[in-house]
Amino acid sequence: SVAVVLFTSDLRVHDQPVLRAALDGAEEVVPLFVRDPGIAAAGFDAPNRRAFLADCLASLDTALSERGGRLVIRSGEPAEQVCRVVRESGARQVHVAAGVSRYATRREERLRTELTAAGATLTVHDAVVTAVPPGQLAPAGSDHFAVFTPYFHRWDETGRRAVTAAPGSVRVPRIGGEPLPERGAVEGVSPGLAEGGEEVARERLAAWLADGIEWYEDRHDDLAGDATSRLSPYLHFGCLSPVELVDRARRERGAGAAAFVRPLAWRDFHHQVLAARPASAWSDYRPRGDHWRTDAREISAWREGRTGYPVIDAAMRQLAYEGWMHNRGRLLVASFLTKTLYADWRVGARHFLDLLVDGDLANNQLNWQWTAGTGTDTRPNRVLNPLTQAKRFDAHGDYVRRWVPELAGVAGAAVHQPWLLDARDRDRLGYPDPIVDLAEGRDRFSRARGLVFRR
Ligand code: FAD
Repeated sequence: SVAVVLFTSDLRVHDQPVLRAALDGAEEVVPLFVRDPGIAAAGFDAPNRRAFLADCLASLDTALSERGGRLVIRSGEPAEQVCRVVRESGARQVHVAAGVSRYATRREERLRTELTAAGATLTVHDAVVTAVPPGQLAPAGSDHFAVFTPYFHRWDETGRRAVTAAPGSVRVPRIGGEPLPERGAVEGVSPGLAEGGEEVARERLAAWLADGIEWYEDRHDDLAGDATSRLSPYLHFGCLSPVELVDRARRERGAGAAAFVRPLAWRDFHHQVLAARPASAWSDYRPRGDHWRTDAREISAWREGRTGYPVIDAAMRQLAYEGWMHNRGRLLVASFLTKTLYADWRVGARHFLDLLVDGDLANNQLNWQWTAGTGTDTRPNRVLNPLTQAKRFDAHGDYVRRWVPELAGVAGAAVHQPWLLDARDRDRLGYPDPIVDLAEGRDRFSRARGLVFRR
């Protein structure tokens, strides 16, 4: 018998329950990836992710080839393509990982309908894309958790499925496919974009567990130290299994490993919010009556990293160069855009999705909403001050000097306040003056949200 595995956000062979189930139930398996034009039509095929995806598919194809198989690539509407492969291969079963977004659940519904009509069955597998499936945990009286801390307590004590071993061999029937997409053919890719794929992911994971995780609690907020795992793009494309990652982290000793489990729970938390409230991808999860400002000049300055606030500009330039940004940077630039400039979070979320290699509907949109105060933050009106934050999380100014070459010659923490430099020195730098006064921005935001404020 033959089964089809439709790979989506789970591009790996290690701890891959979808592939495992297909292999257990059939002699031959078609490992299928469908290049879906709907993703491009929805504006989600940003160059950085397209390039990274090409690496992921190449790496998956290699891993399957080493096991006697290969990856079959097709292009078109996924349900149509899967049905075509089912007909060509004589498959009776199709396996896929459960998705979270509205797009993914609709794809699943269509797949189920068309496969049933074609006389084949669809099996949807949980705990592949997240460690704990969305919907598994809920407080009394609701279908999802709206606050992280109680979610985390439940998440932390929940039993998880066992990690599955990578298959020893994969037999693929004779069936045609298209060539692998090439990373080199993608235009507009960030120069410092990381390499994708399961092989690189596993090397990074091993390096992180050996030397990195231990320091996570102390250093994860240090902008210049760059001491987070940088596993986010590999989790986004499923080159690494979140179940395996939680399992491996739990086996490590120490405060660092304990702290590292928490962001993995944040990832699941946002997924369960999006699964329960799909509209929160683009609509306010908790509307606050905002009438956002649209100042094209300010928004361009923010996008280009020319706001005159060095830490903000450093982070935005890191995003442009690497297609990735440190979490503390993401928090600062998002707070700056939505609160200090009082611009719509969707403007920022869209820009992030255009560049982030880990750009993810659940994590991006709901983190933006969290920062804008329209999401799940229990302190929705806090405004992060980029200056105090910079002095705290980039105490010596190294992060700014790394990303803002105009300021590379300014020593120490003085780099965070170039406006205090002697006027002649400042002119020579060619670095912009601040586009907004922080106190004015804060007051404007407080008034807009109807808050009483104190100086
Ligand atoms: P680590 O600190 O090593 O954390 C390990 C993993 O935990 C990450 O790889 C990620 O999968 C998960 N994680 C960490 N922090 C969060 C968080 N706050 N929410 C959800 N998951 C988290 N993350 C994305 O994966 N995709 C996005 O599109 C995205 N957009 C964001 C937008 C904003 C405005 C903010 C504030 C955060 C966003 N994040 C997003 C969350 C976080 O910034 C990144 O996951 C993290 O910086 C990735 O780096 P890392 O792998 O080194 O993280």
